[in-house]
Amino acid sequence: RGMGRPCVSGAGEIRIDEKAGTFTVRGRTFKAGEVITIDGSRGEVMDGAVRMIEPELTGDFQTLMGWADGLRRLKVRANAETPLDARTARGFGAEGIGLCRTEHMFFDEERIQAVREMILADNESGRRAALARIAPFQKADFVELFTIMAALPVTVRLLDPPLHEFIPHGDAEIDALAAASGLDAAKLKRRARELHETNPMLGHRGCRLGVAYPEIYEMQVRAILEAALEVKRVSGEAPTPEIMHPLVAKGQEMKFLRELTDRTAEAVFAEAGDRVDYLVGTMIELPRAALRADDLAEYAAFFSFGTNDLTQTTFGISRDDSGRFLQAYMDKGIFEHDPFVRLDQEGVGDLIRIAAERGRRVRADVKLGICGEHGGDPASIAFCEGAGLDYVSCSPFRVPIARLAAAQAALAAKRSHTSC
Ligand code: PEP
Ligand code: MG
Repeated sequence: RGMGRPCVSGAGEIRIDEKAGTFTVRGRTFKAGEVITIDGSRGEVMDGAVRMIEPELTGDFQTLMGWADGLRRLKVRANAETPLDARTARGFGAEGIGLCRTEHMFFDEERIQAVREMILADNESGRRAALARIAPFQKADFVELFTIMAALPVTVRLLDPPLHEFIPHGDAEIDALAAASGLDAAKLKRRARELHETNPMLGHRGCRLGVAYPEIYEMQVRAILEAALEVKRVSGEAPTPEIMHPLVAKGQEMKFLRELTDRTAEAVFAEAGDRVDYLVGTMIELPRAALRADDLAEYAAFFSFGTNDLTQTTFGISRDDSGRFLQAYMDKGIFEHDPFVRLDQEGVGDLIRIAAERGRRVRADVKLGICGEHGGDPASIAFCEGAGLDYVSCSPFRVPIARLAAAQAALAAKRSHTSC
């Protein structure tokens, strides 16, 4: 969605034979080169080229959006990490970036080797050496993002995914890394085995990376703030970065991360002889984080509800595997909608309401947003309006829908208030 490309994942019925260059579904085999059409919203793969219409953003569209903007209370931001995404988002009227997933910046060809060296290093100095090579790239990314977004808020999420996602798979890839980096292949293989996890999505990911290897988050915080200072120097306008820690569960974790962030910020400001404002906050992606939001609010100036993970962890359903059985649940009426598409307002929604209430009890002005895919779904946006969130953040291409849905939700709320 982020790139404006459709994708169907978890299509368990499709059997792919990579070697033969074919896939088979419902008794029909498709060969490489045959045309299929993908509807990413409905999760459909269709035979042949379906006739499509390119949406036109006409003057009428701008007028409608203008009306919507005049009515809505919720701000609308975009999930974006590349300059192209950020420009697209601004073009669609996003009022900031609500989620910049920094791991996407690590996969670039120029960087991936240093990233892999960092992950496979078995000590801090090895990690720091590799991080020093990644830092200039990270800083340059942020300079570009902050420049495009001008003074609009930009929420940057620190490294989140399980490290194994970056590890070269198979001996051949590790041998290639060893040859390119001069590192010992046998040692790299041993380390790759050590990093293997049985259940990586509940393993060493999110802020657990920053707790175990603080130097990773220090590098990222430094890159964000150095970039903000540079943009301020060049443009005269200071960006306000919002530094976001993922997968936090406990107040003590948030305290550690807040201190790490502030300590690093002060070091950067002292070196530069200048400062910028910044916020430190957290994602709420775990039921415990929602229930103990008051603990987190002691150290977090904002919460962003990561409802992809929060749905996953509330139901205990892996979002990557749900495609295998969710349809059966929907066919039997157990689920009305896929909860990864439309927010489960009863369960996940309750956790959001609890977190908002408990967070505000400790920090009245804690900023509240949502950045899971639900942030672009109209029914879920209506829920966010009711729960009193400050903003929704969604993929750039969904921003216009979100602006309209936010206006409709505000109107509906006003009407029900009036009729009471
Ligand atoms: C989320 O969990 O809702 C989220 C935005 O993070 P990600 O999708 O990157 O896990
Ligand atoms: Mg998440």
